[in-house]
Amino acid sequence: MKNNVIIGAGVTGLTLAERLAAKDENVLIIEKRSTIGGNCYDYFDEDNNYIQLYGPHIFHTDDEEVWNYVNKFSEFNNYIHKVYCHVDGKLINIPFNLNSLYKAFDNLKADKLKEILINEIGINNKVPILKLLNHKNDFIKELAKFIYEKIFLYYTMKQWGKKPEEIDQSVTDRVPVFVSMDDRYFKCRWQGIPKNGFTKMFEKMIDRPNIKIILSTDYKDIIKNLKYDKIYYTGPLDYFFDYEYGKIKYRRIWLDFEKLNTNSYQENSVINYPNDFKFTRITEYNKFLFINNKTTVISREYSSWDKGFEAYPVQDEENKEIVSKYLNKAKNYDNLVLIGRLAECKYYDIDQAIKRALEEVI
Ligand code: UDP
Repeated sequence: MKNNVIIGAGVTGLTLAERLAAKDENVLIIEKRSTIGGNCYDYFDEDNNYIQLYGPHIFHTDDEEVWNYVNKFSEFNNYIHKVYCHVDGKLINIPFNLNSLYKAFDNLKADKLKEILINEIGINNKVPILKLLNHKNDFIKELAKFIYEKIFLYYTMKQWGKKPEEIDQSVTDRVPVFVSMDDRYFKCRWQGIPKNGFTKMFEKMIDRPNIKIILSTDYKDIIKNLKYDKIYYTGPLDYFFDYEYGKIKYRRIWLDFEKLNTNSYQENSVINYPNDFKFTRITEYNKFLFINNKTTVISREYSSWDKGFEAYPVQDEENKEIVSKYLNKAKNYDNLVLIGRLAECKYYDIDQAIKRALEEVI
């Protein structure tokens, strides 16, 4: 029977483990943290408040294979993710859409802009904010400037330490402007939160006799003593190679959690704060699972280069160059697979990470 070692018990590592075990192969997972699920790790506190320890994670996908796969391990609730942005004391829906116009402006102005957007761009179409700034229509250009300044500029500066035009466009393209009344943050066919949380779903995935897991252990401390046929590494790419070609930049996040004596702190699960305060967003996790308790837990989320956990691989030229050097070097290793958000330095969503792992094990 083939023996596999998987470094990292995040979404990618756990999916790989489940798939390999389903092929009757042996799997040993080594995880540095004391928990599984990577940044999707969640739990319930002593008062049954739901908490996602590494910030808001909402499952969403258009991929039927991935949807069927996760449903084997958990039911999903029918939570549909929406996000509001705190702008000039008002809460505006984002991605910015036709409804947002009526929150941001008086009805007369909103009516006019709505007509212009529908005529110029077309109903149900979307445009990335950086593209909208260069639109030929002066009214749209002015609106784009408003959205850019009030929603994107300072949020992105806090999140990435750079202006929107200075980061890879694929990042801001994740939240385009929509000419529609659809308030959903993700336009995917399937979305929701596992009914008992992500961690429970992951536990079920790896509940097999041929999967063993070692937690709270740096793989470098034990790997020399292990015999294996293949190694799947899902940790930071630069760490694997002892930083030989330099460090890969990740944007880090830290969260300030607070428990409050109320059943509801804010109007929505996630509210973004582009302009006020130092944090980027406040998340109230009970709202993901429709929990109505006497207490509730929120987190205020901050970004930086040095504090907190590695959250977002930076998509810039410098990083891409270092990443390709490491990936080239990896070609010299037999039976090594570098895979996942950290190891490939890619901004994978949960479903993309699962898909990547499903395609790896066939
Ligand atoms: N963004 C922004 N303002 C917002 C929401 C998003 O400027 O209110 C930009 C920001 O640059 C962010 C990117 O859009 O990094 C992608 O946002 P997304 O919500 O996809 O990020 P995630 O949920 O993965 O943190």
